[in-house]
Amino acid sequence: MADRMLQFVRLPQQQPEKRAVAERRADFDEIYRRFDTQEASRQASRCSQCGVPFCAVHCPLGNDIPDWLKLAAEGRIEEAYEISAATNNFPEICGRICPQDRLCEGNCVIEKGYEAVTIGAVERFLTDTAFEKGWVRSRKPVQERGLSIGIVGAGPAGLAAAEELRALGYVVDVYDRHDRIGGLLMYGIPNFKLEKDIVLRRAELLAGQGVRFHLGVEVGRDLPLAELRRRHPAVLIATGVYRARDLAAPGSVLPGIVPALDYLIASNRKGLGDDVPDFDSGTLDARDKRVVVIGGGDTAMDCVRTAVRQGAKSVQCLYRRDRANMPGSMREVKNAEEEGVEFLWLSVPKAFAGAGHVESVQSSRMRLGLPDASGRQSVEKAASPSFRLNAELVIKALGFDPEDLPREFAEPDLAVTRWGTLKTHHRSFMTSVPGVFAAGDIVRGASLVVWAIRDGRDAAAGIHAYLEQETASLAVAAE
Ligand code: FAD
Ligand code: SF4
Ligand code: SF4
Repeated sequence: MADRMLQFVRLPQQQPEKRAVAERRADFDEIYRRFDTQEASRQASRCSQCGVPFCAVHCPLGNDIPDWLKLAAEGRIEEAYEISAATNNFPEICGRICPQDRLCEGNCVIEKGYEAVTIGAVERFLTDTAFEKGWVRSRKPVQERGLSIGIVGAGPAGLAAAEELRALGYVVDVYDRHDRIGGLLMYGIPNFKLEKDIVLRRAELLAGQGVRFHLGVEVGRDLPLAELRRRHPAVLIATGVYRARDLAAPGSVLPGIVPALDYLIASNRKGLGDDVPDFDSGTLDARDKRVVVIGGGDTAMDCVRTAVRQGAKSVQCLYRRDRANMPGSMREVKNAEEEGVEFLWLSVPKAFAGAGHVESVQSSRMRLGLPDASGRQSVEKAASPSFRLNAELVIKALGFDPEDLPREFAEPDLAVTRWGTLKTHHRSFMTSVPGVFAAGDIVRGASLVVWAIRDGRDAAAGIHAYLEQETASLAVAAE
């Protein structure tokens, strides 16, 4: 092993090549090229095969990273893929969009002074190769159990749970209000981070496995939760969080000030070839406009980079903290800067002005205060004078909160936390309503795809244990 691995001393880190800025500003294709087999094997060989692999400890899925890196370094790609797929339902998606700098790669411990192993890029390479070679197959159940499970929400949490439960032999019905599966993978995250074909090929696999999709169905409005509970002995709620936080500044209701998700959904739908009247009318199109995006998370980064690609005249991002305190991935900030986005750190909107449509944003300067209980520095108004930015399109990307699900689902017994997320048992993932489980952002609050997958897998295990116990109790009662 020593010959093949531990190459970090002589082999520098190499991330997959990025397309030239001018080229990527002009289209919505992914910006990273893929490793070829030789590059993937060479980069995998940099791993020092730690006895306690901190990369895996900090991967929410606990992926067996050193194992698949070693196999990849040896050129045993199919085996490496199998190990990576054993703990992750969508490794090619995580390889593309996990914030690796905060998770696995950020905790890779190869000697100080050397850069982390490119774990995400190798993970993506393995599954993309597996798809090309036909190694990825629907996980058909060995035996049917005859019990059905209803899943509300076809985002990563719902889909990971669906795949696990179907593989165990349950009939799985997934309900989603959208016309395509994927949740934020399809309609939130832009194509330049995650091409939609990648999500659609997963949809085909799941359908091939026998998962049944009921699209265009909004639970609560079109189908009561009570009816779902009658149809299925177990129901999983994986509806994500969609209530956009708003601004209280004067003028914030002017036309031309739009919520981030409306803007991103319109752009993604356009890319998928859908008819999008609000885009065609110009309301949700940044072309030839001066654009100001407010916020500093992943959603804000996706908006600024979408606006660049739509042909905005200029794109500025206002964020109330500084670069070091941004919640979004540093890699995405760097990509945005390369693509021409201007960041105005320590700035917040104070008022919006315009005659019948937004024309400018008056902004105040902030400064960092003392760290709060979480260690994050607080922000307070600075004494410096305010400043004005001209804008024809302002995009609000201030984060999301959960909807009032007990009310929307007419299920007052559904207990929620003080943040409005669903309360679940930490092991079984069951809510306060027997037989109703929950997973993903609706439990955790706005989070990450990799955590949604983890929760979906854990909730599937909780549902399986619950149904096994219920079936056993019924059998005893019948004796
Ligand atoms: P969702 O993906 O939100 O899926 C929920 C599904 O439930 C949706 O399809 C919705 O239509 C459906 N639904 C909701 N209510 C109902 C109802 N009443 N009836 C029927 N269906 C319903 N994470 C990363 O790891 N990396 C990133 O780069 C990243 N970028 C992001 C960019 C944006 C713009 C956003 C908004 C989020 C991003 N995230 C990213 C976060 C990530 O997308 C979420 O954490 C993840 O998708 C949550 O998965 P989920 O399955 O819980 O919910
Ligand atoms: Fe890293 Fe995400 Fe893959 Fe885990 S799933 S190894 S955190 S890229
Ligand atoms: Fe390899 Fe880095 Fe993980 Fe150690 S922490 S096993 S060097 S990838």
